[in-house]
Amino acid sequence: MLPPLTSYEELRAAFRWNVPARYNIAQDACDRWADVEPDRAALLHVLPSGDVEEWSYGRLKRNSCQLANALRSLGVTSQDRVALLLPQAPETAVSHLAIYRLGAIAVPLAALFGPEALRYRLENAGAKVVITNQAGLEKLSALREQLPFLEHVLCVDGAGDGALEFWSLLERGSEQFEGCETGPDDPALMIYTSGTTGQPKGALLAHRVLLGHLPGIQMAHEMLPQAGDLFWTPADWAWAGGLLNALLPSLKFGVPVVTARIDKFDPEGAFDLMARHGVRNAFIPPTALKMMRSVDHRKYSDKLQLRSVCSAGEALGREAFVWCQEALGVSPNEMYGQTECNLVLGSGAGLGVSRAGAIGKPVPGHEVSVIRPDGSICEPEEQGEIAVRRGTPVMFLGYWQRPDADETKFLGDWMLTGDQGVVDADGYFHFVGRNDDVITSAGYRIGPTEIEDCLIKHEAVGLAAVVGKPDPVRTEIVKAYVVLKDGYEPSEGLVDDIRQYVRVSLSAHEYPREIEFVSEMPLTTSGKVIRRILRSRAQEEAELVEG
Ligand code: ATP
Ligand code: MG
Repeated sequence: MLPPLTSYEELRAAFRWNVPARYNIAQDACDRWADVEPDRAALLHVLPSGDVEEWSYGRLKRNSCQLANALRSLGVTSQDRVALLLPQAPETAVSHLAIYRLGAIAVPLAALFGPEALRYRLENAGAKVVITNQAGLEKLSALREQLPFLEHVLCVDGAGDGALEFWSLLERGSEQFEGCETGPDDPALMIYTSGTTGQPKGALLAHRVLLGHLPGIQMAHEMLPQAGDLFWTPADWAWAGGLLNALLPSLKFGVPVVTARIDKFDPEGAFDLMARHGVRNAFIPPTALKMMRSVDHRKYSDKLQLRSVCSAGEALGREAFVWCQEALGVSPNEMYGQTECNLVLGSGAGLGVSRAGAIGKPVPGHEVSVIRPDGSICEPEEQGEIAVRRGTPVMFLGYWQRPDADETKFLGDWMLTGDQGVVDADGYFHFVGRNDDVITSAGYRIGPTEIEDCLIKHEAVGLAAVVGKPDPVRTEIVKAYVVLKDGYEPSEGLVDDIRQYVRVSLSAHEYPREIEFVSEMPLTTSGKVIRRILRSRAQEEAELVEG
């Protein structure tokens, strides 16, 4: 936790990690409150009817102890993988806590995954148990024969198809659980990376990962917790962003979390939910914020009570930053990290670290630099790879059964992020693009981020993604895929107008020579643009022309 100092520099200089010899996420995120204030609100669950069901820390503790006992009776022991195929819901939180108590490994899976995505992850993880709902059961039924490790399926809303009923199983378990004593380095979670650049990898995270997130969360949420704080995120808890940037730290800080099942992000619904429930702290990923720009925010301006907004997972950019200040009434604090090592760079407007278009600075406790291929540190304004020094509690334990991927992830003491960045003269980090996304055109190395940010400033552009399209003369040309805002129709005139707009506002060599309008972007379940799909589309087009 951050000591009560006010300047960023002081905090950074004074910060020391304090990782206890015994540490368990369930104890820290739940029992520390349940044991002293059992009635304290932990979750405010919004039902489809709109009614809100309050879950106390005491209930979360009782139910998760019962489930831990029930899972133990099914043969689950420490380090066994238990997968969770559930949306945001109290049962999902109960399940996480139960798995941590057991010293088993929680494998959260997005409820939106299709059968092949599920099969890949369940098989790769060797999951012994899956906890899911009816919708998940349907997807699983066709897969069970292909999953020899899978012994039990628990269903939270019914039984059938060989599944055990979650609540009746749980009720058989005692409310007292003699927990297994975990250490901070014991594995607690396996989260699959978003799969933005290729097959997702299972990043194994230790119990200490929660401790490692706390300074970043406090910085991004203006010294969370403050009286009256109330947290909400549209992000799925199956993604590091939803689980570790929102649910678990809020519980740890005693800040109640509004939970609502979200099948597809609805920009108007996001405004409505935040206004209706008086949300004070929100984690909203960049694409979601960009989509919210299509809503007339003025009708919500006197209803919103936001105190802090954090965004991470992709580049936020200047346009969305400024919009957020105006429409949501707060400066968004951008954060940066990856499943393997999360929340290591960030902003905190209250600490004086906030700059439109920049990610921010290293979060106290983490050492982050932009480095050259030989591991030396770049000069200010020199582009290189963003790297994180080993020794932070957020650092993952390794990829699950991927020693090949482990080896290339480190250079000496640096963990390589695979992202290109620049540090400016004031120490702010700027995101250029993922290594694979950087475009080589006529001798220039061009990052897509800046161009995308410029594109969405155009009045007609809702979302934009930029990739390199192979070109016989220039190696690659910049190609932009654009989703238009409601009310705009694709036309040649609009293509010219947008192209000209970027050319004038950004530069004559970075403007997109080709623009294609699409009705939607390919997104990961964590809401990130999958440029890899657009890139191969552009590549196929180029091959067709050549061939
Ligand atoms: P995969 O590793 O499977 O290709 P992924 O990298 O998208 O997927 P995550 O771990 O969810 O999986 O995402 C981490 C990545 O997200 C970072 O490496 C970076 O590329 C991007 N990212 C996160 N925060 C930011 C940010 N603030 N600005 C720009 N990019 C960001
Ligand atoms: Mg990655």
